[in-house]
Amino acid sequence: MPTYNHIFWDLDHTLWDFEKNSVAALEKVYVHFQLAEKGVAAFEEFNINYHKHNDKYWDRFRKGFITREVMRWKRMWVTMLDYKIADEQLAKDMGEAYLEFLPLQTFVMKGALEILEYAKSLGCQQHIITNGFEATQIQKMTNSNMLHYFNQIICSEKAMALKPHKEIYDFALQATGATVQNSIMVGDAIDVDIAGAMNINMDAAWFNPHKIASTTKRTFEVAELLELKSILG
Ligand SMILES: [Mg+2]
Repeated sequence: MPTYNHIFWDLDHTLWDFEKNSVAALEKVYVHFQLAEKGVAAFEEFNINYHKHNDKYWDRFRKGFITREVMRWKRMWVTMLDYKIADEQLAKDMGEAYLEFLPLQTFVMKGALEILEYAKSLGCQQHIITNGFEATQIQKMTNSNMLHYFNQIICSEKAMALKPHKEIYDFALQATGATVQNSIMVGDAIDVDIAGAMNINMDAAWFNPHKIASTTKRTFEVAELLELKSILG
């Protein structure tokens, strides 16, 4: 018997290796738009700059200050401004291309497929709750061979709310027929995935591979996905 009947997984940085995949996709953008020839020094530096800006814009998007569409191209726009290139069309094309390349990448987190298989063997129903773009998230899961593990994919567009807001968790419970008592949330973002679940009294396991310090409440904390085995049953 599993300890929890329903596992709600976060996708990016929890199961799907967003960091590695993002670098791989960005490198394809760099090559595709011939940025070296345009004076954008080395890819390594471009990569660092992009991710610095991207973090800032994601935070603004999450807080509701900007739309997804604006975020998609502005993160490229400001990165290119670091190289004194102010070309709005180029930034928009790069933003689009990055989103096309990203879900084609297939790196998964260490132990991801094993723990999904283990939970399946226990008879758990598994679902995704993600703040990412729905079509993109489905492509990622398809290409990295994990889509078949999930019963429901709860995206913010469908739920019309973002984690950590209560509405997306309520929507997820309704869509899956799960209850707070027989469910657990697993995610890497303590103030997003975990805080949101704890807020509705759902158990939550914080996947914290970098061993970041936080005072935010959680039921469990693991540094490796396979440590979840003893928690799940
Ligand atoms: Mg995440």
